[in-house]
Amino acid sequence: MQGGALVLFSGGQDSTTCLADALSKYERVETIGFDYGQRHRVELDARREVLAGLRRAFPIWSDRLGEDHLLVVDLLAQISDSSLTREIAIGLESNGLPNTFVPGRNLLFLTLAGAVAYRRGLQVIVTGVCETDYSGYPDCRDDTMRAMQQALSLGMDRAFEIETPLMWIDKARTWALADRLGGEALVELIVEDTHTCYLGDRAHRHDWGYGCGSCPACELRAAGWAGWRRAGGGDRDSPPAPPG
Ligand code: ZN
Repeated sequence: MQGGALVLFSGGQDSTTCLADALSKYERVETIGFDYGQRHRVELDARREVLAGLRRAFPIWSDRLGEDHLLVVDLLAQISDSSLTREIAIGLESNGLPNTFVPGRNLLFLTLAGAVAYRRGLQVIVTGVCETDYSGYPDCRDDTMRAMQQALSLGMDRAFEIETPLMWIDKARTWALADRLGGEALVELIVEDTHTCYLGDRAHRHDWGYGCGSCPACELRAAGWAGWRRAGGGDRDSPPAPPG
């Protein structure tokens, strides 16, 4: 409960779950997001909706939730042909990496997060990277996170800790974690307000939320939801423990 955390928060399912996790553990939590010329501004709208929803539904968390830092890093568009920032189709490159990969993006984001955390006196940096649903992103690996933690701590002479609550769990267990942290209210908020779809689709509503239903991000989210529900997740026969 001591100290504070800075959560890399995109407005998606994973980072919202990480934010809830941090709010359940730390007395002071701030968020950081990046405007890097995403094709779909819905991600940035989702951030605002989720933060407002968390404040409404969880008064205890609202007291702990501090400043949101939104940094404009439009230089990423200059050095990237990624399908997340340009109007090209999502697919695989010849090296096996999805073309949604922006080289060095997470490294840059973590460096910026380190700078903000330093300035704000926050020791823990939380990010929703995950090796389990690994799409081949080398900057989501546990080894990369450990190396970044060391680089930031050495480079800023501050003992940072990079926390990755989702590193070893799959999407079904990410839904289960949200349920454990905030019960039905948090699951509903994630379904309704978070955004994951690569195509920015907010027109089609599924059990697991909004999205095109067929891009890799939607498929992962839908499969995780189905797995969680199959295992009995979301059955409300016994009331979930209140968050705190
Ligand atoms: Zn989609």
